[in-house]
Parts: sequence; C-alpha cells; structure tokens
Amino acid sequence: MTITTKIPHHQFEPDHLDDLARQLFKPSGVDGVYGRTGEYESVIEALAALITRHRPAEAEIFRFAPVMSRASLEKQGYLQSFPNLVGAVCCLEGSEREIATSANKNDNGGSWTEDLVPSDLVLAPAACYPIYPIAAERGVVPDQGYVFDVAADCFRHEPSRHVDRFQTFRMREYVRIGTPEQIQAFRDSWVPRAEGIADLIGLPYTVDVANDPFFGRVGTMMASQQRADALKFELLVPVRSKESPTACMSFNYHKEHFGEVWSLHNARGEVLHTGCVAFGMDRLAVALFVIHGARVAEWPATVREALKL
Ligand code: AMP
Ligand code: ZN
Repeated sequence: MTITTKIPHHQFEPDHLDDLARQLFKPSGVDGVYGRTGEYESVIEALAALITRHRPAEAEIFRFAPVMSRASLEKQGYLQSFPNLVGAVCCLEGSEREIATSANKNDNGGSWTEDLVPSDLVLAPAACYPIYPIAAERGVVPDQGYVFDVAADCFRHEPSRHVDRFQTFRMREYVRIGTPEQIQAFRDSWVPRAEGIADLIGLPYTVDVANDPFFGRVGTMMASQQRADALKFELLVPVRSKESPTACMSFNYHKEHFGEVWSLHNARGEVLHTGCVAFGMDRLAVALFVIHGARVAEWPATVREALKL
C-alpha cells in the first residue's frame, strides 16, 4: 500500500541554507515563524547591546508591543502602500454561549475563524510607527528636534522558507524628528556609523539606494520616485547569494509624511520631517551565522570580542 501525503509545492525546493536553518531554528509549522535556539538568541542580545553602544547620547528610549493601534496604521496610509503585508488581530466576541458555539465549530466540520471579529489592534509592521503620535502628543517640537531609540517585534505577511525572510522578526531603530537639514544630517551620519558596526562584526556589505515594496501599479510609481529621490538606502549583506544580497539595515528619509499625518511642527509652525535607521536584528543574526559559521565558539576572535560573546 502506498500512502501519498500532500506536501505543499514549495517544500520540494531545498535551499542551500536549510542545514543552517535547522540548527538555528525549530519549525512552528508555519513558514517564516520559528522557535529560536539559545545560541541564536545570545547573538540577538549581543547585537542589541552593540547597537546600544552606538546610541546617540540624546536618544529617548521606548520599547513597543508587537501590536499597535489599527486606527494609527490606517491614519498613516499603510493600507494604501502595503495592504498585502498587514496582519490584523481578530477575536471572538459575544456571550459565553456565542463564543462557545464559535470555538466548537471545528469539531462540527466548520471553522471557528468564520466568527472572528477585527479588534482595535494590528500587528506592528515597523518599530517606529508608534513613536510619531507619542511625539506629536507633546505639542510643539523643540528646535533641536527629537531622537528616539525604539524596538518591537514586527510582523509582515511575507511567508517564505528562506532563512533571511521571516513573518515575525525583531526590529531596532533610531528615529529622528526635525527639520529637513536635521534629518539629512542624521541619515548621512548613520550610513558610515552602520558600516562601522558591520565592519566590527566582520560582515561583508554594500550600501545601495533602495525602495520599499509599495503595493500595486501606483506602488511601482511610488517606488521609482523613492529611488529617484534617494530616500532609502540599505546595507546589504551577501547572505543567500552575492547576486541578491539581503537588506540587514535601512536608512530612511520619510520627508514630511509622518509630520503631516501627526501634525508634528516646530515653534514657527513648520511641518517637520522624519527619518529612521532600522536594524533588522534577525537578519543581522542570520548573516553572522552564515558568514562566520553555525557555532559561535568558532567565530573569529575579533567578531566575538566586538559582540562580547
Ligand atoms: P524596512 O522598513 O523594510 O526597511 O525594514 C527594516 C529592516 O527590517 C530591514 O532592513 C530588514 O533588515 C528587516 N526586515 C524587513 N523585512 C524583514 C523580513 N521579512 N524578515 C526579516 N527581516 C526583515
Ligand atoms: Zn522606521
């Protein structure tokens, strides 16, 4: 007797980094979501500490939940730009009896998910989004502007079996709110500083102009405008291949977008600009394991020293 099991098509495509992935992660049954080993987490913590040692002295620190206000995300236009990436939190609502009926639907050949109701929460797609309304709430922004250190577990609906693409991943960011000149100066200073971090941990890289994956046909135009205006740069590491390197950090100039949405303004009433440098913590960790090997104990001494590992 032969038993045929239906395996999704993509599971037949082995990847050259699968062995490493098996050492670092335990499958959850869903692509791009994993249990992480202690060794992997020690690298995430070491990277976080290294990035903290590069923190601007004036930065205010906030740590955010993996969920954020749905209304905030809607207000800032995320649904126009990246509707394909959003994850929303849904819950069962109603009386005890109604909720029990929904929960039992699976046992009766149906699905409990039919009764899910959208909540006020979405999964945070980036660490910096919650900071703009917090800054705006304070009123007039002082002349020196603001610098924030933020972090969150982020979600983007981009399931993949590739070891450098997760559905849920850690993001750390330094965020600047100020005049166009202040944002430009911040971003220009962060490119060499971030290169310095990559040098310290022995990652080969290139820095290149980039675009966000804006959705749809209008999105294609927005992406080419973003490139033409050089608003986004990425630090790319050859994780899977040299030909398509992986963005491990990004340097973003949002111009007046968040300033207009949240009415961020200075004493002269000018709408302020914003920018951020984002560190993809899980991508940086994976890059370290790919470049230096699966065992931290065997990494170059200089790299372990830089990470205090
Ligand atoms: P972005 O806002 O797209 O520039 O994202 C900031 C950083 O988060 C990127 O430079 C990546 O390092 C990281 N990142 C983005 N998407 C993913 C993903 N699907 N899996 C892991 N890391 C990601
Ligand atoms: Zn950001």
